[in-house]
Amino acid sequence: MKKIGVFTSGGDAPGMNAAVRAVVRWLSANEVEVVGIKRGYAGMIDGEFVALTPRDVANIIQRGGTILRTARSKAFMTPEGRAEAAKQIAKAGIEGLVAIGGDGTFRGAIKLTQEHRIPIVGVPGTIDNDLYGTDFTIGFDTAVNTALDAIDRIRDTAASHERVFFIEVMGRHAGFIALNVGLAGGAEVIALPEVPTGPDEIAEQIRVSEAKGKSSSIIVVAEGAYPGGADTLMRAAQEIYPFEGRVTVLGHIQRGGSPTAHDRVLASRLGAAAAETLVAGTSGVMLGEVEGEIALTPLADAVEKRKPINRDLYELAGVLAE
Ligand code: ATP
Repeated sequence: MKKIGVFTSGGDAPGMNAAVRAVVRWLSANEVEVVGIKRGYAGMIDGEFVALTPRDVANIIQRGGTILRTARSKAFMTPEGRAEAAKQIAKAGIEGLVAIGGDGTFRGAIKLTQEHRIPIVGVPGTIDNDLYGTDFTIGFDTAVNTALDAIDRIRDTAASHERVFFIEVMGRHAGFIALNVGLAGGAEVIALPEVPTGPDEIAEQIRVSEAKGKSSSIIVVAEGAYPGGADTLMRAAQEIYPFEGRVTVLGHIQRGGSPTAHDRVLASRLGAAAAETLVAGTSGVMLGEVEGEIALTPLADAVEKRKPINRDLYELAGVLAE
């Protein structure tokens, strides 16, 4: 291959820039031209392409967000939209693509390959960590650390005021962020989409904690753990057992910020491996890291197969909250 395109798509995640940098520098070092596609699939359809040299990706490894921007594209969900994208790719002389994003991005990539035979490899860039085929996605570690920093601050005030704090973290379908933040933040209860935790259990846990002499509690709630989120869950628990409670929804602060060392190393490794894989003639796969080693997973498996949460960690968090 002589020319490869790279784009970021879906929700932005810290470390996407480090991945773009790795793709550009690895390919340039191997004499392959790189084209940056702006605004994900939306920019692909509009032909928003820019040549990227190693100097263009200087000074971005530490930056959150994505210099290529990202977007959600309704047009790309249609065969006509994808046909237009394929036309633009061909016109620009791009022979293969590196897609950095989450499951929606990979679903789109699968269709683009099926319909227009464009070779694509995926790099898992999403804070949710909800992709099968990699122990960690790029951005997850940073999001966990950002949420943890917020929880540490809230803990100070929770202890001073003898209150129960409900902290809602991102995770509509997957509880990876909530689980790691909950364990690392010493939460009394962790409510995940994967493990139903109702108001009765929470009320009971708060009652027991008070009886043990705990003056404050932290309850970490993934946004998808209960219909209506942390606020509804807290109110329902208060109906069962009255307590002084406050809700903090962390929201988008979890997405931003400078990537952690872990995310930069992961992004650098996976970005370079993606470029190398594509040039070597393999496509339709996502690059991941499994038990420290680079692993290739078919894109279809990455989006269809479910990555389970670590039950041992969940049990451990419960034991340590005693
Ligand atoms: P995150 O999980 O971090 O939000 P994501 O990659 O899952 O990232 P989405 O918004 O779901 O983000 O997907 C990004 C884009 O991929 C969509 O805006 C759409 O253009 C395209 N896409 C998603 N699903 C499909 C699909 N089934 N077919 C074609 N294109 C799709």
